Amino acid sequence: MGVHEKAWLPDFLYTGGRLENGLAMVVDQTGHITRLSRQPQDLAGAERIRNRAIFPGFVNAHSHAFQRTIRGRTEYRTQASKDTFWTWRDKMYQAAQALTPDGIYASARMVFMEMLLAGITTVGEFHYLHHAPGGTRYDDLNLLAKTVVRAARDVGLRIALLQTAYARAGWKNAPNPGQTRFLYRSVTEFCDELDALRTDLDTQYRGDQVWLGIAPHSLRAVPLDNFCVLNQYGRDHGMPVHMHVSEQREENEQCLAENGKTPVALLAGEGLLHGNFTAIHCVHLSDAEIGALGAAGTSVCACPTTERNLGDGIVPARDLLNAGVNLALGSDSQIQIDPLEDARQLEYHLRLLTEERAVLAPRLSESSDDPDGLAQKLLYSATVAGAQSLRAPVGVLGVGHPADFFTVDLRDPSIAGAGNSLAAIVFGLQRTAICDVAVAGRMIVRDGRHPSADEIVDHFDNVQRELWSKP
Ligand SMILES: [Zn+2]
Repeated sequence: MGVHEKAWLPDFLYTGGRLENGLAMVVDQTGHITRLSRQPQDLAGAERIRNRAIFPGFVNAHSHAFQRTIRGRTEYRTQASKDTFWTWRDKMYQAAQALTPDGIYASARMVFMEMLLAGITTVGEFHYLHHAPGGTRYDDLNLLAKTVVRAARDVGLRIALLQTAYARAGWKNAPNPGQTRFLYRSVTEFCDELDALRTDLDTQYRGDQVWLGIAPHSLRAVPLDNFCVLNQYGRDHGMPVHMHVSEQREENEQCLAENGKTPVALLAGEGLLHGNFTAIHCVHLSDAEIGALGAAGTSVCACPTTERNLGDGIVPARDLLNAGVNLALGSDSQIQIDPLEDARQLEYHLRLLTEERAVLAPRLSESSDDPDGLAQKLLYSATVAGAQSLRAPVGVLGVGHPADFFTVDLRDPSIAGAGNSLAAIVFGLQRTAICDVAVAGRMIVRDGRHPSADEIVDHFDNVQRELWSKP
């Protein structure tokens, strides 16, 4: 081994869709994997980590960091005749209106630390909180975007900042006072500010630690002509383009009334779908729309723990995967930070719906006797698919990739006895089993502990006390 290399030798290492035994992962000083090796000199020079398996870090493709502040604060009935996504959103807006830049930093750092502890090493932050309460502009229009990026880097996470464009309350809807912090004056102004933000971030951070994407919020919040400009900006700059799509039936109905088509049908008809586009949610789609997403090589990001919490509905994961869609996962509202739980819910929601088992498992002809085929697919969504959606060079442990990984304790009660059964780990693992988490070969979490945990929790605790003690 070279003098500037380091290596780890776990009981198992997940690579190529399998848990491999006796494989050392060798990493250079830039944090990239130089080889996965069975050579005696590499095995001898590696740090032997017993009773551990190494997995690639998860990729969380859809997050709104500040929504960590409302976790568990909306689980009651309001005066409305029916509580839905829309009544939840009113309560979310109350928190969004109240947070100071310091509160945004504190909540982002809190949830990003929790992500690291859950094995997430890259996040796509769909960031739409831009202005001061009431809509007053900060001197630097990108202040809050930079604040969120700083929180991610202070904690140690890679971040794709998906700068979000928000134009209106909806077609023919009166302005909503809850949205004043989100709105841009014009799409041109938005793109100019994005240019400035790109320059600033490129000066301050390495491009594989922090990078930009563009996120028209939804076709409800952004009219089609604005979407076209933003989508083209993203394509011209090779950025990921993310948008909320068909989370709610009402959103489909509005789009149908304004444009004569539902969102995916509209985008497909206008030739606006592409390989760098990710549609978030996609709960309410027609068969033709599912086919169009697959044909265009797009990604869909499902957020099952949020979708079940908000009562959105069930993502048609089987049909999307069969159509060839790249299916990623996101923590969205932060009700729970647990990528494998999201992955499992992709499958479990369909089990409840169809009264079948192993719904997403590969067909017999593909791998007739592989009991880990379903687990591989779910893990793929939590890693590789998310990396593709965010255009991040992560998600697999292979030569040339960054060494972003976590270790699991094979003696944790949730997975004890799993051995090399991937399915036993994917279906059983609890966060208590996640021990160490590394980004670019640097161990940040050790034995389930982040070095700044006390300070981060204290800061967030103070913000919450202030936020929720107001009348
Ligand atoms: Zn969202």
